[in-house]
Formats: sequence, C-alpha cells, structure tokens
Amino acid sequence: MTASLHTLRVVGPVLDGADPRVTDEVAAFNTTHTPRPALVVGATSAEDVAAAVRWAAEHGFRVAVQSTGHGLSSDLAGTVLVSTRRMSAVAVDPAARTARVGAGVRWREVIDAAAPFGLASLSGSSSGVGVVGYTLGGGLGPLARRHGFAADHVRSVQLVTADGAIRRVDADGDPDLFWALRGGSGNFGIVTELEFDLVPVTTLYGGGIFFPGEAAADVLHAYRTWVGTLPEETTTSVALLRLPPLPELPEPLRGRFVVHLRFAHLGPADEGAALLAPMRAAAPAVLDLVADMPYAAVDSIHMDPTDPMPTWERGTTLRELPAAAVDELLAVAGPDVAVPLIMVELRHLGGAVGRPAAVPNAVAGRDAAFSLLALGPTAGPLAETMPAITQSVVDRMAPWAARGALLNFLGSAGPERVGRLWDDADRARLLAVRDRLDPDRRLAPGHALVR
Ligand SMILES: Cc1cc2nc3c(=O)[nH]c(=O)nc-3n(C[C@H](O)[C@H](O)[C@H](O)COP(=O)(O)OP(=O)(O)OC[C@H]3O[C@@H](n4cnc5c(N)ncnc54)[C@H](O)[C@@H]3O)c2cc1C
Repeated sequence: MTASLHTLRVVGPVLDGADPRVTDEVAAFNTTHTPRPALVVGATSAEDVAAAVRWAAEHGFRVAVQSTGHGLSSDLAGTVLVSTRRMSAVAVDPAARTARVGAGVRWREVIDAAAPFGLASLSGSSSGVGVVGYTLGGGLGPLARRHGFAADHVRSVQLVTADGAIRRVDADGDPDLFWALRGGSGNFGIVTELEFDLVPVTTLYGGGIFFPGEAAADVLHAYRTWVGTLPEETTTSVALLRLPPLPELPEPLRGRFVVHLRFAHLGPADEGAALLAPMRAAAPAVLDLVADMPYAAVDSIHMDPTDPMPTWERGTTLRELPAAAVDELLAVAGPDVAVPLIMVELRHLGGAVGRPAAVPNAVAGRDAAFSLLALGPTAGPLAETMPAITQSVVDRMAPWAARGALLNFLGSAGPERVGRLWDDADRARLLAVRDRLDPDRRLAPGHALVR
C-alpha cells in the first residue's frame, strides 16, 4: 500500500493503520471498540474527502468516517477511515437564522456561535456530540417536542458520494437523496458540510431533579401519567442511574442509585414550575437543579459524562407506558435488581417529533410515544455480558414496543436491526437511493443498510 500512497493527494495527514499517531487521530468517546483502519486520512476539506474516497475505490478499500467517535460501533477494520475533525468551520447567518458547519464540528461550537444572536440549535443531551453524525441519525434533544428532530431543520447537505463526486443536495435537487440523508445516516456518502435552521431560543426553564432510588416506583408511576398533561413546549426524560463514586459528581449522588428527571420548558419560570409541580410532589428530591437557564447551559439538563468511556447500549421505542410497563422496567432495572447497567432512560416523544418534517425525511420512530435506552459499561468481563444485559431490558419491554427504534439510540446493530427501523416502503426507498449512489458498497457506515 505504501508504494501507491503517492497517488493520494490530500492536504491533511495520511497515516498508515500501524502508525502510532492513529491512536490519537481516531480516539473515540466510546472506547468499547478500538478503531483498526488500514489507513487514516485527516481530511481538511471536501476535496480531501473526495480524494480519499477515490483512492480507496481504486485500491479496493471500503471507506468509513469518524468525527467524535460518540457513535463508534465497530473496529472499522481494514477501512480507509476519513477523520473529519479538522473540518471545523462554523458560520452563523443571524438574518437567515441558519448555521453552516463543517463535518468535524461538535454542538458546543454551534451553541456558542449562535447564542450571541439569540439563537439556539437543536442539539442533544451532550454538546460534545458531533453535529453531522447526530443530525443524519435524526437528532433528538431537549427542545424536540416543540421543534422536532434536528434532521427536520436541515436546509442543505454537501457530501462526497462513493464515486468521489462532491455534491450539494437540498429540497430542490435530488429530493430522494435529500430525504434519505436526513435519518438514513451515513449510507449515502460522506457529508462534508451541513446547513440547518436555528431557532430563536435564549433561555428556558430546565434542569434535572435527582430522586433517591427508593422512590423509583413512585417517580416512574407519577411520570407516566404526568407526561400526558404536558404541552409541546415541554420536553422531558427520566433515567434510572447507577452512578459510580466519582469525585466530579455532586456529593449526594456519588455511588448512588438515583432517578434522574430531566425537564426543559420553553416558557416563563412560573409556568414551568406549575407544570413541574406534580413531579416535585412525587417524592422528596436528593437534588433539585431545575431553574431558569440560558440555552448555552443545555448540558446541565442531562449531565451526560464528558470523558471517554467503554459502553454498550441498546435502544427501542415504546408505543405506550402503562403501569404494567413501569413495573416491568423496575423488575428488570429498578433499585432492587443487581444489574451492572449505568443508565436506563425513557425519553418522552410526541409533539413535533411525531409529525413529518416540513420537507419530509427518513427519520424513523416518529410514531412512538417513548424512546428507551439501556446502557452499561464494557470494562473487563462485562464486555462479554453487556450486550445480553442491555438486550434483556429491550426484550422485557417488548409487549409495549413500537416498531423499530431511533437510529441514534440503536447502539451497535447489525443490518437486520437497522433495516427494521423503517416500514417496507421507506426501507425500499432508502435501499434504492443507496444502490444508485453506492452500487459497490464502498461505504462502511456505523448503521449499514443491507438488502
Ligand atoms: C454521551 C452521548 C449523548 C448522546 N445524546 C444524544 C441525544 O441527546 N440525542 C440523539 O439523537 N443522539 C444522542 N447521542 C447519539 C449520537 O447522536 C450518535 O452516536 C451519533 O452518531 C454521534 O455522531 P458523532 O459524529 O459524534 O460520532 P461518530 O462516532 O464520529 O460517528 C458516528 C456515525 O455517524 C456517521 N457519520 C459521522 N460523521 C459523518 C459524516 N461526515 N458523513 C456521513 N456519516 C457520518 C457514521 O455512520 C459514523 O459511523 C448521544 C451519544 C452519546 C455517546
């Protein structure tokens, strides 16, 4: 391979898979998998990406892409891996209320660039996640019930397709590809730039309330009836957390089993507090952190970990959450069960999430009422058992399952599970676009579509 590398003309670095610098170049947030590409191209532009894709095709390699590694779900063995983190341009157009970002941008950069103009992005629970990977998989954040998925607000996409061509796609040009890209993830090309709408949000009434593990049944049963009373301006989730004894956690949470209610209300504090009152009355809190807050502090709602860690996750969606479903969830992951899960999370959907985007797209899971995610560590012997443990949570909730899952919460999943996200018609449409643009299956996306 080294002999032919002189034909790969890019501005960014090119690293052989055995080069020790690869470790830093593709260091991922999820360390369960260690990337083992044959070659890494540190792309600086769409032209670099196109050159890498063409070179890979000429030399018989498949092409993968990585930004932050928050969604790393395999070791990418033998691929040419395009690392996008140098593609870091962010431009906010305050008049048009849009942002245009390079493929390596994380949400934090967009949030900080948009805030001075009184604008916010439809980012998710953690601003360390990459904009492109998140958005191509749908993108569900704390404003979701009011504004929908991030993918619903994409205006245009620049990408390099498997033939090495640089294309710009929007609602008017190649509508099938524009539909598929927004929700069908990395199956159609390597996105080099994304343009999307921002929303006029500066503050919200939000944050988290931590309840003691002993109150899990009271809190979850209150939650399942309470969410039905909430307006679309309110987006919530609730998680059963087995927290490690980390010094960076507030003292009352260290090493404890807690129930974490996350609350985000687009409206004045008194309105938000009135909506939240039934949950505040459900049980005494260990810590109540809900208050008026700037959107820029959005990470404080979920308080996701920020340091890389080895985890395995499995997600599904639920069509309803009756009392029996809450009891089953407590039986499989509640405070009385000895199970090494870090988090079992329910996110309330509905509202704008449940309606098609203004320009329809391929985001799956709109008809569900809740997203369910089970996540655990894969350190040591848990690497062997965690896939089955997380799957068992999903299996036990099967009686209430909606069809499929949200792609971003699917976890490591083979083509059979990926394919089940869509109904037959949408899956056929996605596959037709994929076959047209990548007939030789050169692309190796995290969530691959297969016939
Ligand atoms: C702590 C944490 C919090 C999260 N919170 C949320 C949340 O609130 N809401 C939500 O919806 N999701 C959430 N996610 C899931 C996250 O959105 C997905 O894992 C997403 O794929 C991460 O994208 P990335 O680019 O950061 O990761 P990467 O691992 O770099 O990329 C993941 C995959 O995205 C695709 N991809 C990335 N870049 C490109 C590109 N340029 N072109 C084409 N395809 C590309 C590829 O298939 C790639 O394999 C969270 C994940 C973590 C770990």
